[in-house]
Amino acid sequence: MAVDFPEELVKKVEPVRILILDVDGVMTDGSISYSDDGTEIKSFNVKDGHGIKLLKRCGIDCAVITSRSSAALVRRCGELGITHVYQGSLRKLEAYEDLLKRTGLDPLETAYVGDDLVDLPVLRRVGFSVAVNDAVEEVKQRVDYVTRASGGRGAVREVVEVVLRIKGRWQDVMEPYEG
Ligand SMILES: [Mg+2]
Repeated sequence: MAVDFPEELVKKVEPVRILILDVDGVMTDGSISYSDDGTEIKSFNVKDGHGIKLLKRCGIDCAVITSRSSAALVRRCGELGITHVYQGSLRKLEAYEDLLKRTGLDPLETAYVGDDLVDLPVLRRVGFSVAVNDAVEEVKQRVDYVTRASGGRGAVREVVEVVLRIKGRWQDVMEPYEG
């Protein structure tokens, strides 16, 4: 039900058809570890992952745009069925424009979650802009919604819930789990 959310937020979320995620600091807590052979290790949140699957089940697509590249991300996106994966995108806006072209979506139908200054150009373009709770202040001040959860600690899951609740789909998600 949309009644719990401010009207302004509802207006921004209702048209959303794709959730675009930054990776480091959004899908992860921002830590980057290396194994002895130099392989990059990232930790992803299981509840975030389940949220992304729920989102897709409700017909809302998901994409990632990151300036880094890692095999760990490729694997995680494969597990979650995320097909729009932009890695090594130093200019995130270019990746975003490409995504619009490929999907035929209007900017108002897109949402983006970020945590740092490099995310601002895309955050300015999307219909629904989100910062994680531990994003830098300059980003938090310029978005439509700041999550209560931090990056890699349930922030993505929180955004998924907000989107599905506002769209009136949360009951459908809960149905199989209710006795
Ligand atoms: Mg980031």
